[in-house]
Amino acid sequence: MASVAATGTPSPEELKFLEIQQKYIEEAAKRLRPDGLDQFVRLKDAGSERFRALAEDPWADHAALNAREPVKDGAKYKFLISGAGYGGMLYAVQLIEAGLASGPNDILMVDAAGGFGGTWYWNRYPGLHCDVESYIYMPLLEETGYVPKYKYAPGPELLEHANRIATKWNLHDKALFRSSVKSARWDEASQLWNVDVTEGRGPGEPSRELKLQAQYVLVACGILTNPHIPKIPGLETLSGDIFHTARWNYSVTGGSPEDPSLTGLQGKRVGIIGTGATAIQIVPRLAKWAKELYVFQRTPSAVSWRGQRPTDPEEWKSKIAYKKGWQLERMLNFDSYMTNGAKEGQENMVADGWTEMPAFSAVIGSPAAATLVPTSEEIGKHVGRLYQLDLPSREAVRARADSIVHSPETAAKLKPWYPTWCKRPCFSDEYLQTFNLPNVHLVDTDGKGVDSATPTGLVVAGKEYPLDVLILSTGYVTPSIGSGNPATRAGMQIYGRGGRSLDDKWQNHGAATLHGVCTNGFPNLFFSPVAQSGQAVNNVFSIGAGSEHAVHIIAKAEAKAGAGAIVEVTSEAEEAWTMEILKRAAWFAGVGGCTPGYITAEGEFTRISGDPAEMMKRSRTTPWGEGMESFLNVLRAYRAEGSLKGIEIAARA
Ligand code: FAD
Ligand code: NDP
Repeated sequence: MASVAATGTPSPEELKFLEIQQKYIEEAAKRLRPDGLDQFVRLKDAGSERFRALAEDPWADHAALNAREPVKDGAKYKFLISGAGYGGMLYAVQLIEAGLASGPNDILMVDAAGGFGGTWYWNRYPGLHCDVESYIYMPLLEETGYVPKYKYAPGPELLEHANRIATKWNLHDKALFRSSVKSARWDEASQLWNVDVTEGRGPGEPSRELKLQAQYVLVACGILTNPHIPKIPGLETLSGDIFHTARWNYSVTGGSPEDPSLTGLQGKRVGIIGTGATAIQIVPRLAKWAKELYVFQRTPSAVSWRGQRPTDPEEWKSKIAYKKGWQLERMLNFDSYMTNGAKEGQENMVADGWTEMPAFSAVIGSPAAATLVPTSEEIGKHVGRLYQLDLPSREAVRARADSIVHSPETAAKLKPWYPTWCKRPCFSDEYLQTFNLPNVHLVDTDGKGVDSATPTGLVVAGKEYPLDVLILSTGYVTPSIGSGNPATRAGMQIYGRGGRSLDDKWQNHGAATLHGVCTNGFPNLFFSPVAQSGQAVNNVFSIGAGSEHAVHIIAKAEAKAGAGAIVEVTSEAEEAWTMEILKRAAWFAGVGGCTPGYITAEGEFTRISGDPAEMMKRSRTTPWGEGMESFLNVLRAYRAEGSLKGIEIAARA
């Protein structure tokens, strides 16, 4: 495209590009709210008992769990892993495989859920699938020999896989479920962590308060685990059934995670608030059964093609699981498209809609970040390039709405007017089609959200929509709260040396880690990385890389200092790593213009942009700017050097 600067007059393409930019700005501005994160309340902190109850675990088998040998108050473990989702399980498997945890009391996994699986334990809504190809998303496929049934595995299969991993590595008797870690406190005298846990025992049973000890605490509490709801005036007065998608209520809808017959919705007026990645999967299922379905939309998702298909056994053998190490190779191949780092002529192994979105690299980094000069002029050009790069796939996704949705007015309302990187892109060959059904009604709130609720329904722009059932598909507390610190995200307190809390350290100072997995002042504490680490669209790729690295550090430390090792990154080393993060942080400047959502902490990132100190603190939270492959190379080089530079290792007295 010839530039304005070169010719003096904008070309038609440039004019179109500028118009689209203007539209993005206007649409984002409509949605920026002064209350930011305060517009929501965590379900479990909600003022009304009715909503707090919606956070309870619908799935736990309390009788079976109560019959298990109880964990003793005062018990001591080598590794206490908080979280038994794929992240916590990867920690456990890697520790076992490294020969660090072979004794009966070596590992205790503590999870608020009633079983393994994390995200896939809690979420059992109809239509649930992984959005990244299951061949690269499902962990340990080579080690378990499991062949996923579909390109995108449904929820029950993802949950079953968690239990498969637990069985193969004997994790079932190493887990304490229905239990929340409230706090972990480093005890200088014993040089152990004192961990306070509340164990729920089911309805009508008093909970148990446990004081446990651990040599190491590993925090793998996830990124999207705290469902929240908007503070819509009058919502608690709504008389119909109501629940959040993360705790699906099959007694209201009928059916089950395995049975899509939502017979309980027959003859009912059903509303769903939210049109994010969750709702996109649910709406087509609701549309089949509800008498009338009202989809309350604040911001449309971008919905591209999916291409779901069963796994072909021949293709599996010859092209997918075709050699040892295939899963990592395929993860890296996929990631190269997401980071705009694919090489000319290379095979696109996954070849799905994701791989057509190179501009998503705006939020996960790219090899190109290595050469970005962080002056305001260069950053401006960089953001402009990202918008240009994004335009073809964005135009395609908008054209797709026109080509599928019969009503031009409805199609127009379903088009996303923000760049790819502002919200998780969605993929479905059913969602947009649903809006052609006579019983499905899009209630677009033009960026404002639902105004209020009455005992009989929801109100938007002065009109009441009567409802029998309301489903809240309104998402989760943003993962970046507390400067992205893992304790705040998990709703626990972690106190390190001198009684200083991790909240206090990161809130005041900003994130500080070595490679995203450990922080000074908190010996023998490791966490699933979010801030200051490589991030990927495929979350299992990034959490697995983080736990593998942490386990390597622990193994090396124990080889040096014995099984009682005390491992702590120095403050110099974490500041040096933070500097490396900051050098590349300019890459993420495109996020500043985003429409609000959890990626921008509901617009709070945009709001603080004038304050240099706050900007600096925020930048410390960014991922590694050059993408996952480069991050893995950094970790490999660090490990190959062999001395665990920047880590102090001592033997326990
Ligand atoms: P989780 O699976 O969230 O597990 C964390 C566990 O920690 C939970 O079981 C929770 O109960 C427990 N926990 C939290 N706090 C405490 C505490 N204080 N005490 C004790 N236990 C605690 N990512 C993708 O890459 N692809 C996808 O397709 C995809 N789909 C998703 C679908 C949904 C509906 C959601 C919500 C997220 C999805 N994600 C996806 C992101 C997903 O969370 C990660 O892929 C992955 O499951 C994270 O694993 P994890 O073990 O780190 O966290
Ligand atoms: P999101 O936060 O993405 O979506 C919440 C939705 O609720 C948004 O559409 C939001 O609108 C809307 N909303 C919030 N408040 C109001 C209001 N007052 N009135 C009307 N609408 C409102 O949550 P999800 O659960 O959909 O997804 C969270 C993340 O989980 C995804 O981004 C993805 O990472 C992961 N996920 C992945 C899936 C997969 O495909 N495997 C499936 C599900 C989730 P607005 O956009 O304007 O804020």
